[in-house]
Amino acid sequence: MNAGAHGKEMKDIVIETTYIDNNGEIKTISNKQQEFSYRNSIFKNKKWIIISTTLKLEYGNKEEIKQKMAEYAEFRKQKQPINYPNAGSTFKRTNDAITAKLIDECGLKGYQIGGAQISELHAGFIINTGNATAQDVLELVNFTKNEVYKKFNKNIELEIEILGE
Ligand SMILES: Cc1cc2nc3c(=O)[nH]c(=O)nc-3n(C[C@H](O)[C@H](O)[C@H](O)COP(=O)(O)OP(=O)(O)OC[C@H]3O[C@@H](n4cnc5c(N)ncnc54)[C@H](O)[C@@H]3O)c2cc1C
Repeated sequence: MNAGAHGKEMKDIVIETTYIDNNGEIKTISNKQQEFSYRNSIFKNKKWIIISTTLKLEYGNKEEIKQKMAEYAEFRKQKQPINYPNAGSTFKRTNDAITAKLIDECGLKGYQIGGAQISELHAGFIINTGNATAQDVLELVNFTKNEVYKKFNKNIELEIEILGE
């Protein structure tokens, strides 16, 4: 899905990737051939299996790297509800707005359906407060989409992938 954070994405460091296609053939494709875009790549919604990828990393100062990692970890601890089960950022950002801010401005922080809740810490996350069902999460997703549409006339799209029915 071309994961990314803090202004960088996997597309910035991947050189090439090797995968097994539907016919069982092993193939290697370049960065360009992986058609990366925001939270998307050629691998999304395919049944290919990635078996390796080559990354190009930069040399840096060990202490500075450690410090940066600690900073990012602290940032997540402060800003994201990592003490509750969740699937990460629920919705993609829109072209011109931060989706979590829109949800927050709809007054939905803390809004709950069954065991699923819009995190009080970060409106971009749906958390499981203990006994959420998939149905609770999906209902909360739809409710949130509708509220944002009603208030801002904007369609927000899921970043998470729904598996099953
Ligand atoms: C608290 C939290 C914060 C997050 N923050 C961010 C963030 O800042 N930025 C961001 O981009 N994402 C973020 N995420 C989302 C995270 O990047 C995704 O959940 C990521 O896909 C997890 O990878 P995984 O290998 O653990 O998941 P998995 O569920 O194992 O895999 C994810 C997908 O990749 C497929 N897959 C796995 N292995 C292979 C393979 N070998 N070949 C082909 N397909 C495969 C799976 O079928 C699935 O569709 C966050 C998630 C959480 C819970």
